[in-house]
Amino acid sequence: MIAAILWLQPAIESGPAAFGQPAPEAPVREPGKETAKDGAKGEPADPALVAAKAGVELCLRDMEQAALKGDKAAWLACVDQRDSEFTHEQTYFANDLTKKKPEAITLSVEGLELGAGGEGRGGAQGKVTFVWNMPGKRERRVGFDARFVEHDGRWLYAGEVWQMHEAAGVQVLCDPGLEELADRTVKAFERVRKKVEAGFELSESPLATRTQKIKLYGSMRHLQQSICLSYSDGLEGWNEPNESVKLLANKSSTVETLSALLAHEYGHVATFAMGPHANEMPWWIEEGVAELSREGAVGGDDASETVETWAQQGRLAEWKDLADFDNCPPRLQPFVYVQGHHMLGYISEQFGRHKRNQWLTLMAQGKTLDEATREAFGRGFEQLDKEWRESLPRAVGQPPLPEEKPPAPKLPQPEPRPMTPEPPVAVPGLDHPMPK
Ligand SMILES: [Zn+2]
Repeated sequence: MIAAILWLQPAIESGPAAFGQPAPEAPVREPGKETAKDGAKGEPADPALVAAKAGVELCLRDMEQAALKGDKAAWLACVDQRDSEFTHEQTYFANDLTKKKPEAITLSVEGLELGAGGEGRGGAQGKVTFVWNMPGKRERRVGFDARFVEHDGRWLYAGEVWQMHEAAGVQVLCDPGLEELADRTVKAFERVRKKVEAGFELSESPLATRTQKIKLYGSMRHLQQSICLSYSDGLEGWNEPNESVKLLANKSSTVETLSALLAHEYGHVATFAMGPHANEMPWWIEEGVAELSREGAVGGDDASETVETWAQQGRLAEWKDLADFDNCPPRLQPFVYVQGHHMLGYISEQFGRHKRNQWLTLMAQGKTLDEATREAFGRGFEQLDKEWRESLPRAVGQPPLPEEKPPAPKLPQPEPRPMTPEPPVAVPGLDHPMPK
């Protein structure tokens, strides 16, 4: 139905002008000039709907201008901020606008209907389409059903119209048509939750009794758009502090593949629960521990084979080049995940789970990498890196290590490597694209 309206619209707009007649007085996208008719039958329009359409159009124009100017405050002024996770998601979106403005953006809504705002405050929903391009990049287009709500006389963007599935401790919100996947997601979350929490030693923390919100996206384009306009890398999942976990799901997603994705993403949630500065620790640590969380909860690749091969080929990356999410070149992103995963596994084997979590917590509380490494492991990070590299195969053509070097000190009774003591289960299909 909505598609039919979309296709009809250009034909109407191009009619009179094509025959040399004056252009229509009221362009469809201009607010406040709605016709008084509701549809093809010529019935009187619902005044509330006419007002809603005008208000929503104003909101969309304001959002366009805010995006073009990279104006965070102006963008957030267009957003309904009563849902704290959606507000955090939109704040991330708006922060990105301040760094990366689109060159052009058009927002449109079709098929707006009243009564979808919920919470007894009125509202409307319709199909919103984002069309934009970043400087020098191709045009991108994403459409989805979205809500708008009226608040203090102004219409605000309230995000996607989600189908809600609830179970104990978890809410799954999904694109329409993904309801069966929501059930699988609930099962997957129940399978991995306690294992991830145990790996971070957070089983007794508030995290363990929280209701976790998970959003399922039916297309990668939609998931990317929900993050920010500039994001175009491939991904299967996403999480930032105080946001919902976001997953890409399709009909072929099984409980097993969803468990692996969730163990990674919930690993991020657990990391963020360790302290207010968790998102400032080097990116390779965030992804490394999330991959270790995935390995601990569902098994699968432990990164050894790949990292040992890289070591033999002399291709290991410098940690400083893997630290900054915003400035990490695409060719190094696999190293963020795989090399980071290997280092987190090495740390777990050398010092044990508790020391590893202490190290993470120190950084999450604001310590630098070197400070946390000295406090938790009794050596600076440069020394730890040296020991890690020496534990790996030597690169071909590289001289052997000097023999007088003493072995690296170990703490007594190191714990086994995994985050949790489950036997490994192979999980295929996680190599690419990388989850955030
Ligand atoms: Zn991740």
